[in-house]
Formats: sequence, C-alpha cells, structure tokens
Amino acid sequence: MKITVTGGKGGTGKSTVATNLAWALSKKYHVVLVDADVECPDDHILLSTNLSEEEDVNLFKPKFDYKKCTACGLCVENCSEHALVKFKEGYPFLMPTLCSGCRTCQLVCPEKGAILDDYRFVGNTYHVKAHDNLELVTGLLGEGEERSYPIVLAARKRALSIPADIHLFDTMPGTGNHVAAAIEDSKIVIAVSEPTPLGEHDLEMILKLLKKLNLKAWIVINRSDLGSTEKHKEIVDKYDAEIIAEIPMNNEILDSYVSGVPVVEKYPDGEAAKIFNDIVRRIEEVM
Ligand code: SF4
Ligand code: SF4
Repeated sequence: MKITVTGGKGGTGKSTVATNLAWALSKKYHVVLVDADVECPDDHILLSTNLSEEEDVNLFKPKFDYKKCTACGLCVENCSEHALVKFKEGYPFLMPTLCSGCRTCQLVCPEKGAILDDYRFVGNTYHVKAHDNLELVTGLLGEGEERSYPIVLAARKRALSIPADIHLFDTMPGTGNHVAAAIEDSKIVIAVSEPTPLGEHDLEMILKLLKKLNLKAWIVINRSDLGSTEKHKEIVDKYDAEIIAEIPMNNEILDSYVSGVPVVEKYPDGEAAKIFNDIVRRIEEVM
C-alpha cells in the first residue's frame, strides 16, 4: 500500500509526521519510507541514520556532431525548454541546466547521427535500513541543479523496487509535477498544514491538486494552537477532505526532533505519540 504525506508549504512538520508514522507502522509492518523532498531531505536526520548506498542519477542530454548537422534549426525550434540556442552559423548549442532530457531534439532531427546520447549528473539516491522493519530511500538534488523531477522519479523507482507492506512517501513542498509524481497511486494522502494565512492558502492549493488527481485527503493540522483553525475547516469542507488530527505545540516533539528519535519511540505514552498511533489505527482500517 502506498501512503503519501504532503503539504503545500515547507516547514509545516511534514517530515515529523512522515517519520513518526513510518516508525509506528514499522512495529507491525515492513515499511519503506521515501524522502522525496529532494531539495532538502531530512528524514535521515530525524531517524539518526546516514545517507548510504549512494547511486548517481544521470539525465540524457544531446551531444551534437557538427560534421553531420546541417544547421536546419528544427531541434532549436522544438525544444520546449528553450535549452537550445543557435550559433551565428545556425548550429545548435545546449544550455545544460535548462535541458529536461526529453529527447525531442533527437526525435525531430532529420540527420541520422547528428544528435548523439550524452548524460549529465543531476543528483543521487540513497538507501539505508533504519532498523529491521524500516528502510529509508532518499533522493538528493545535485548542487546547482534545478530539476527535482528526475530525482523524485529515481527515488520512487528505487523505493518501489524494494518489496514492502507499506511505501510511505514524504513529498517536496508545493504542488508541481515533482509532488504529483510522488502522490500518484497513493491509497491515502495526508496533507500537513498549520493555522496561518499562508498555511490556509497552501492547503487550498494542495487540495485542488488532489481533487484533480481524484484523491481524498486526510488533514493533519500541526501546531494547531498557533491560531484559529476555523478557515481550515471551511476549506476542508469545500474539498470534501477530512481533518483527522490536530497536533498542538509540544515539547516532546521538539525534544525528539533535536535528539533524532521519533516521538513515538522516545515518549511512547505521551500525547503526541497517542495522536500518531490513532492515525496508524485509521490507516489500518483502510489497509
Ligand atoms: S532533450 Fe529536450 S529539453 Fe533537452 S535539449 Fe533536447 S529537446 Fe531540449
Ligand atoms: S535538427 Fe539536427 S540537423 Fe537540424 S540543427 Fe538540430 S542537430 Fe542539426
């Protein structure tokens, strides 16, 4: 079963929710947690593990053979990313960081062999066992790279190749294709929000995306005593979602965050652990 923890905005406590649910679920099930927040993955820190078993992620890029190229310009005209510019003589030139690796240039080129395969490094994936029943796959975007999508796809592919009872995805903030790629095929989507104007705005954005994907969301309001949750309730009703938990600010969570031990492990009888264990019971009802 695939579960996704998401949230329109960064810093809402997505990773805290994902790591605690993964840890609590792994008491009974084999869980693969996937840190798809590839610009700033931190699940390994919250679980006190290292990034290990590194694999490179390489993306196609065109390599021009100017002896065969006739400077017809078709590749430049058809590159939707504007990653190709024309030299004065009409020959194409690549700006690598803009290239998505879609191969359209190669497909439209009428001269056989004028565009050859080349690759560029865009990031890494990692794999580590947090304990016997909990594995963590992490995607990390390369320095200076802007395209997170291929890394999310690579982390997703690597994670799904590991047999498990539950694959639990922790997405990037936002609502772009990098988030949609992680959410796809989820049986349960948990959106983490907080009661601030920005939190309200971003909650609506993520619920719009989920509606398009025909997925119902469970909402967790983190730091629920930070402000009024009335507006959240209106938005949730509008999109036929459901608030399943409200987590007030809590010293146990803060302490477990700093010490790199999930609160469900460090304070198993505390208030926060009770909330996470209630969510686990809900998950089990739909498994
Ligand atoms: S692979 Fe796609 S994005 Fe890259 S240069 Fe070719 S057409 Fe443009
Ligand atoms: S489409 Fe092929 S032949 Fe035309 S400019 Fe591009 S590389 Fe050269």
